[in-house]
Amino acid sequence: MGTNLFLQLGDDSPLSRIKTYFDALQNSADEYFFVSDLNSGQVLLSKNFLRDFNFPEEIVEDFATLLTPFIWHDDRELFESAMSEIDSANPGDEVFCEFRMLNRNGEYGWVNLRMTTGTDEFGQPELVAGVIARMDLKLKADHVTGLLNRNAFEAALMKELNSSPNIHGAVIFIGLDNFQIINETYGHQFGDTTLKHLAQDIMNILPPDIRLYKLDNDMFAFFVSEVYPEEIEIIFSSIQLCMREIRNIEDTIYCTASGGAAFYPNDADDVTTLMRYAEVALEFAREKGRDQIAFFDSAFYERWRYDIGMQNLMQNSIARGCEDFFLCYQPQVDAKTGKLLGAEALIRWYDRDGTVVAPMQFIPMLEKSRMIIPVGHWVIENAVTTAKRWQEYMPKFEVSVNISLYQLEEHTFYDFVKDCIERHQIDPSTLVFELTESHNIYDWDFVNKQFQAFHDLGIKISMDDFGMGYSNLAFLKNFRCNQIKIDKIFVDDVLNSNYDRQLIKHVIMLCHSVGMEVCIEGVEDEATYIYLRDVCNADIIQGFYFGYPETEDVFVKRFKQ
Ligand code: C2E
Ligand code: CA
Ligand code: CA
Repeated sequence: MGTNLFLQLGDDSPLSRIKTYFDALQNSADEYFFVSDLNSGQVLLSKNFLRDFNFPEEIVEDFATLLTPFIWHDDRELFESAMSEIDSANPGDEVFCEFRMLNRNGEYGWVNLRMTTGTDEFGQPELVAGVIARMDLKLKADHVTGLLNRNAFEAALMKELNSSPNIHGAVIFIGLDNFQIINETYGHQFGDTTLKHLAQDIMNILPPDIRLYKLDNDMFAFFVSEVYPEEIEIIFSSIQLCMREIRNIEDTIYCTASGGAAFYPNDADDVTTLMRYAEVALEFAREKGRDQIAFFDSAFYERWRYDIGMQNLMQNSIARGCEDFFLCYQPQVDAKTGKLLGAEALIRWYDRDGTVVAPMQFIPMLEKSRMIIPVGHWVIENAVTTAKRWQEYMPKFEVSVNISLYQLEEHTFYDFVKDCIERHQIDPSTLVFELTESHNIYDWDFVNKQFQAFHDLGIKISMDDFGMGYSNLAFLKNFRCNQIKIDKIFVDDVLNSNYDRQLIKHVIMLCHSVGMEVCIEGVEDEATYIYLRDVCNADIIQGFYFGYPETEDVFVKRFKQ
């Protein structure tokens, strides 16, 4: 092969002279190399061109034509203009160009082409030497999808914003909604394949002049100049269609995408702020229920900032032993007699200015950040201490504690509870865990074992907010509970609606038939109470009619005869 090549090139060809160096180079690199002889038009190629693109020989005459089919169609013009630029370049000039090219696995990834001219002994241009490098090897592209990464996005957006003083446009972030579940269920390799497919699909539907970038994990981004919000919505709908395609490949996968958009210069005019706002808008879309796009909204942003601020304050408060948290207790009474049975412990938090913040405003955040784990420990510790004190007067006093599923999934939780019961010498059957469901369970097996272990300890398990969200019949099929709690919304219309009356009556019958007791929440008036007691046979009642959540001392004053 070697001799043939030299014959082909001719002894006095400049390509012959450099062939030895050329071979030495290509053994040590991932890049593609080529050198073209400007006089003969012959181009000497590194061997990986033959390997990856099935080029016929190491010497070709129509290099650009051969390479073009491997270049992403929207980028071919870029490549062609770079090739003609180098033809007319002065000696020593360099020409750069970035485009997407197929890799060995048949996927498009970003590459960077660098070319320079070399001269003969008379200073005349004689050779062009070029290198094509994959950008994912140079920290400019994402190694999974081959798309340009965050650094590249920032640089490109900066260039866009500086390109003209009155430039208009939008920055769009696209995030996968359930990507973590896909990864956990099907493995990371499958997750990567999904991302790759998706990247190629989105690239296909985006208008040709828009580049798609991949930021961290499962987030894509692009920016569009001179665009109306409606146009962005249309682009987003096509992305949603891509997601459906992915679902079709593996019909058990449920993966959707959400989007967030921030507009320049209206929302902001610098790279950092625009990117933060697009991310906040994405968060907004997710809060609104996912599978949709949201535009940056300053009211939402303020609320989001408030939450972040609160999160920091809570973190400090937790570090100081949950200092600014406190518990209120709401009475639970025996439906038949109206007598006090126990209380539900409900958490509150003092904001910096001393105002009391309700749990709905911070529990979701504590769960998301897993701070619910230390806070949950604190709640149990305090509720048990209080219950123990009260049991001196009322030995069977039951205290109900809200337990988030995240706590149940936590591996040291059981040991903590067992230790707490032993330290306080409390009868476990006076402790009720109200499960407040909030997310999908990944490890049913483990949660089931935890459940059984608490049963075995003698703790009562109650299913909170039955009939809402995840708290449903299917859940009851998997987990046997001692008690279910029926939410206030099933009670509100009992006096006005025959349908609601029948519904609650039969749900209670159903629970009784499988041996579960029923606690009804949100009872605010006597007539409702009497109906639930006499017609429905409810077991336990909790509601403002019998008492509000109160601090420990107020509660004691009221109930200690
Ligand atoms: P939940 O467990 O369903 O608690 C009952 C909520 O309904 C309480 O609100 C209570 O004040 C309210 N409520 C009770 N009776 C009535 C009534 O007759 N009328 C009306 N309008 N409301 C009534 P709160 O204290 O704001 O708690 C809200 C939610 O926060 C709780 O809902 C629970 O899911 C969660 N939560 C509270 N404390 C904790 C905790 O320590 N840990 C966890 N994980 N979640 C907690
Ligand atoms: Ca509850
Ligand atoms: Ca409830």
